[in-house]
Amino acid sequence: MLRRLFCLLLALPLAAQKVALSLDDAPSLRPSPILTAPAQHEAMLKTLKDRKVQAILFTNGVNGGDSPEGRAIFRAWSAAGHRLANHSYSHWDLNRDEVTLAAYEADVLKGEALIRDVPGFTRLYRYPFLRAGNTVAKRDGFYAFLKTRGVAIGHVSIDTADWLLDERLRKRLEREPKADLAPYRDLYLKHLWACARFYDAWSREVFGREIPHVILMHSRLLNGLFLGDVIDFFRAQGWTWVDPAIAFADPVYALTPKNLPGGEALADAVSAERGDQGFVKAWRARSKDPDDLLFSEGRLTVRMDQLGL
Ligand SMILES: [Zn+2]
Repeated sequence: MLRRLFCLLLALPLAAQKVALSLDDAPSLRPSPILTAPAQHEAMLKTLKDRKVQAILFTNGVNGGDSPEGRAIFRAWSAAGHRLANHSYSHWDLNRDEVTLAAYEADVLKGEALIRDVPGFTRLYRYPFLRAGNTVAKRDGFYAFLKTRGVAIGHVSIDTADWLLDERLRKRLEREPKADLAPYRDLYLKHLWACARFYDAWSREVFGREIPHVILMHSRLLNGLFLGDVIDFFRAQGWTWVDPAIAFADPVYALTPKNLPGGEALADAVSAERGDQGFVKAWRARSKDPDDLLFSEGRLTVRMDQLGL
């Protein structure tokens, strides 16, 4: 009996990380060569239901949120028990000089109005491009604005470039609607896994402990097609998908880093705040497998070119 228990323990995966799924730029009604936007959302919702995973959508007005189809998509996510939070109306970049704090705040309120009355609305704000301001006045002014309104930052702990693969996949399908998509799926999983290991190691170094992660992916065709593969892959690596509310309840998600320009993924922002940027260099130096470096947009682009994707 003991021996059997011991063997069972040995067989358990080493990593036991927790991760919550966040999908930005919803609903994204851009026409796609193979799945309509509503069909992409239906596919994602079915995948999440079948696998019992709860997600949070970060919504915009400009991506179709301010339209009857967009509102219907928000209601479908809400009815399925998922959360919705604000990602602004216009998806502006707060680090740009021409984006003033006053205009940005008005745009954020306009975005919030689209979902405020939808069940599952959650008082979190995610910065477009993860950019939190190019001046101290804008950065801290917006922190104060959020605080006054009782809204927390919808921080990301694992950033990804799923959008980059999605763009390539769309272009391919426009040329060749029956193209074999398996190589896109395989590279997508390698990319996400490289991102997860990179940001997990970085977070452990910065916070001195395991944190529950929040991964940033997008409401896009790629996830309409492969979200189930992503969930299954992480589970096979020993990771657990958790309710976003559980991840966001960890104290690291209440941080307001004072890096400048502001924003970026949590480990990155806090490292920059401390003036310590040694991790990325050390991680690159330590990596032996080229797949380990696929977290980088540059490396991912080179690999897509090599594979003809
Ligand atoms: Zn976005």
